[in-house]
Amino acid sequence: MSRSPRVADTSAPVLDLVLVGGGHAHVEVLRQAAMTRTRGVRLTVIARELETPYSGMLPGLLAGHYTQGDAHIDLRPLCQAAGARLFHAEAIGLDLSAQRVLCDRRPPVAFERLSLDIGSRPQTADVPGADRYALPIKPVSAFRRGWDEIEARLHASDRPLHVTVVGGGAGGVELTLALQHRLAKAGLDTRAAFTLVSKTDSILPTHPPRVRNAFAGVLDARGVTIVTGRAVVEVRPDSVMLEDGATLASDATLWVVEAGAPDWLRESGLATDERGFMKVNRYLQSVSHADVFGAGDVIAFPEPLAKAGVFAVREGPVLARNLLGPPDKPLKAYRPQRRFLTLISTGNKHAVGARGALSVRGDWVWRWKNRIDRRWMRMYQALRPGAMAMDKSGPVAAMEAMRCAGCGAKIGADVLRGALESLDIPAREDVLLGVREAEDASAIAVPAGLALVQSVDFFRALIDDPWLFGRIATLHCLSDLFATGAAPHSALMTALLPHAPPHLQRHDLQALLEGVLKELAHAGATLIGGHTGEGMELSLGLTVNGLADPANLLRKGALRAGDALILTKPLGTGVLFAADMRGKARAPWIEAALVSMLRSNGPPAEAARKAGAVACTDITGFGLAGHLLEMLRASGVDAEIAVDAVPALPGARHLLGRGIESTMAPANRASGGSLILPASTGGPAGLLFDPQTSGGLLIGIAADKAPALIDILHREGAPEAAIIGRVLPRAGGAPLLALTT
Ligand SMILES: Cc1cc2nc3c(=O)[nH]c(=O)nc-3n(C[C@H](O)[C@H](O)[C@H](O)COP(=O)(O)OP(=O)(O)OC[C@H]3O[C@@H](n4cnc5c(N)ncnc54)[C@H](O)[C@@H]3O)c2cc1C
Repeated sequence: MSRSPRVADTSAPVLDLVLVGGGHAHVEVLRQAAMTRTRGVRLTVIARELETPYSGMLPGLLAGHYTQGDAHIDLRPLCQAAGARLFHAEAIGLDLSAQRVLCDRRPPVAFERLSLDIGSRPQTADVPGADRYALPIKPVSAFRRGWDEIEARLHASDRPLHVTVVGGGAGGVELTLALQHRLAKAGLDTRAAFTLVSKTDSILPTHPPRVRNAFAGVLDARGVTIVTGRAVVEVRPDSVMLEDGATLASDATLWVVEAGAPDWLRESGLATDERGFMKVNRYLQSVSHADVFGAGDVIAFPEPLAKAGVFAVREGPVLARNLLGPPDKPLKAYRPQRRFLTLISTGNKHAVGARGALSVRGDWVWRWKNRIDRRWMRMYQALRPGAMAMDKSGPVAAMEAMRCAGCGAKIGADVLRGALESLDIPAREDVLLGVREAEDASAIAVPAGLALVQSVDFFRALIDDPWLFGRIATLHCLSDLFATGAAPHSALMTALLPHAPPHLQRHDLQALLEGVLKELAHAGATLIGGHTGEGMELSLGLTVNGLADPANLLRKGALRAGDALILTKPLGTGVLFAADMRGKARAPWIEAALVSMLRSNGPPAEAARKAGAVACTDITGFGLAGHLLEMLRASGVDAEIAVDAVPALPGARHLLGRGIESTMAPANRASGGSLILPASTGGPAGLLFDPQTSGGLLIGIAADKAPALIDILHREGAPEAAIIGRVLPRAGGAPLLALTT
């Protein structure tokens, strides 16, 4: 079996490899990429969840034996170690003729080779009401949120609730016992009556009789009612109906039935089996599309395999070899293990192990399983950026030696034209010369009586998704206009793209432009020109134009003693992304930072202006202290900040407390140090020197108007806005900033 011809095509030296899903096999592909310094491959991961759960530890996580961090692999550091780009999105379809993955919350992602390891989820479509009233075990994050709600109902209810687990396989049995144990630890076990329903004649139908009997005994001893040989045919809000017409009361129905595949897989044109799983050959390669591979629950292998993580794990090294290996080597076949060890836990740190007809049980079996699981997790959790990064250079490095500078460093005209052609650049009547006219310069008409307000900013990408970076950079640049009360009109963009073959540069430029245009359009502005060049790293800057009534301009120099100071966004992007580069930031922290950076300062600025504020600035590279000192200088006043009232992004204070900070923080501290009382070098005040990307607004407003403005801001796109201090009369020659707790 040979690889697809595209791989050996020397005119396209860099292979665009996209992995969809961070399942058990893909984490091994990433580990191999980090270890083997793969050349000639650009790796991108599209993942619905940034923290991927390990199936072996799932029951222990639900029982409360493991933390989220124990039982999940954080894909960010793993991807960084592998030199892979990580796009946080859910794949919702494939356009195989255009070789693109369609995503839920971002533009399509182009690929030359694709691999799917997206797992499965329990089928709900065949049973009326299951979609609406049952809680499926997957996605795990949604299940845990749903279970938290059920637990809250258990707390509040004045009678025991009926909990029905539908599915008598290993998943259903382990889930029942794990949740029971969890409730027992919380003193809630008497408030839930569990029923386990299986359509097969016994629970654990694929397991040896000794294992079945052992679990039937445990379930009985724990008071779980077992119903076998009858399928659930309807789920209602307060009951389930069985195929013989019997009804069981059910206040909470948990769904752990056989696995199903997403509908879009069948609709994509990939060959699938009758259940909708992707048909692959022994090389884990789609039988219909040679450039598409897959592993784990989502594949239909030539011989039927159980939907179990052990197969996905064992497929990982084979998949890695076939995706990343040299193009001239034949593909490797996966040979499924005929017998494997099954370890099923009883919820209370006790487990039953079986291999073939042999079985063992005891607390020691659980400890043994625990050791195996933790050892496996360490292989992926220990990888950190910079440790063994995949050589991103390869053929790209060879090209770099010959790259030109000056105007020769411009992006090729075809790349630019190709990227622009597919984009919808909003037209404005007052743009006289814009991108479409392709003149030497742009021209805009400024209405009489209005001021043209301009600003420029430029920076390196802090994330490797060009579309998301385009959005964040645009919001950051527009923020200067919002802070002066101007309405965005248009922008000129300067972008540097990393050296790469033209087709990859075109994909990146298109994604970057789509991000820029999305935020410009949202702000009512358009793109009127720009310049694109090549550089070592993706970088973007915008020169933004806005229009404002000169009488309504907000200013840094308009603070008055007695004003309250309002900050509209939490601080911490600098330290969080500094930690991210070292693999020390947790995925939920970075997600929260991205959500905050993607909030426009437009609505808060408008709300502030309407509420009567006249003093405003946006918090960017100099940090809160630096930008506030600029305001104090310009306004001739002092100020006091309550450090504890300053909102912080999740993880930011924790990281600062551990001595991590942005490389710009020392310079920020030095430039304002002597003006800040008490003299502060770090601790809780460290946050004030943290440089922000797409940070919030700092607004000065008369103290009596501040609470009403806070209420409006909380509704108008600044949910974490807070009063953080007040403006004081100038005490001496230089402006002073007093810190209180
Ligand atoms: C309670 C329970 C206990 C289990 N215990 C065991 C066990 O002990 N041992 C065992 O071998 N098996 C166990 N299983 C089965 C096991 O969970 C699965 O077989 C295994 O997780 C499949 O691995 P995978 O790599 O195919 O996918 P997954 O582990 O499900 O990973 C898929 C990943 O892809 C991501 N994803 C999904 N859809 C998309 C999309 N459209 N776009 C982008 N990303 C996407 C998800 O976020 C996820 O991170 C258990 C199952 C249950 C329900």
